[in-house]
Amino acid sequence: MNCMQARKYLSAFMDSELDVRTNIEVLEHVEMCGACAQRLEEQRQLKGLVAAHVESIRAPEGLRARIMASLTAAGGRRLLSWATWREVASTEWLKASAVAASIIVVFGLVYGVLLAPPTPLNEGAVRAHMAWLGDQVPSFMVTHDARKARGYAFVKFVRKPTVPLLDDEAFELVGAVPAEIESMNVGHFVFRYKAVTVSMFIFEGLDLDEIAGTEKRIGDGFVKVDSRGRMNLVAWKTGEITYFLVSGLPQSDLLHISGPSRAGR
Ligand SMILES: [Zn+2]
Repeated sequence: MNCMQARKYLSAFMDSELDVRTNIEVLEHVEMCGACAQRLEEQRQLKGLVAAHVESIRAPEGLRARIMASLTAAGGRRLLSWATWREVASTEWLKASAVAASIIVVFGLVYGVLLAPPTPLNEGAVRAHMAWLGDQVPSFMVTHDARKARGYAFVKFVRKPTVPLLDDEAFELVGAVPAEIESMNVGHFVFRYKAVTVSMFIFEGLDLDEIAGTEKRIGDGFVKVDSRGRMNLVAWKTGEITYFLVSGLPQSDLLHISGPSRAGR
């Protein structure tokens, strides 16, 4: 066995997942190769670090099962339909999402923001909320730098969308997170506008007709609008990219700041 082969197996070797023969071959190689032995030791340390970190954010026992049950109960509709979001969001497990783990990082973040009080927030409350998000979602980036946030949230996008809202001073950018929902790349930005928290989700590869809501003509294009409780949603599509604005702002405000409307100015 050479170094390249050995390194391919190091992780499985460390986890005792190899068949006996391969296991012996790796062991023999590591015993005679200092470089690979060192690599193995580094991986052991890395794994220890990761394990220590993951342990601290592990979900409560049975949480995943309850999420899956909630999704099934939602009738197999697309997770991204607004109705389903709310349905899932209202279930018990969400109330436990203060201890959300990696498997529900996206959900915890989405619902954490959706359920954030839509009433005006003071600076301290916003900072506290974002700190809470940062704790729940290790990859959440708190920033006021639009360029950084764009690069960060769109890290996996093939087609990098242009987002005028990011550069509009009326919006105070608070943070960004890259996410994945149903295998789609999602960039999630959190803004404040008129002292209200606004979430913008940007999807790559999602058709507007897959989104629940009423179609409405605005400016040069169409948007989908929907409302549940105090939360309003406006969605629109530009090229391959679909945008969601979700907030406790009045729908007229969301329409006013949506893409087709802005393009029409
Ligand atoms: Zn080697």
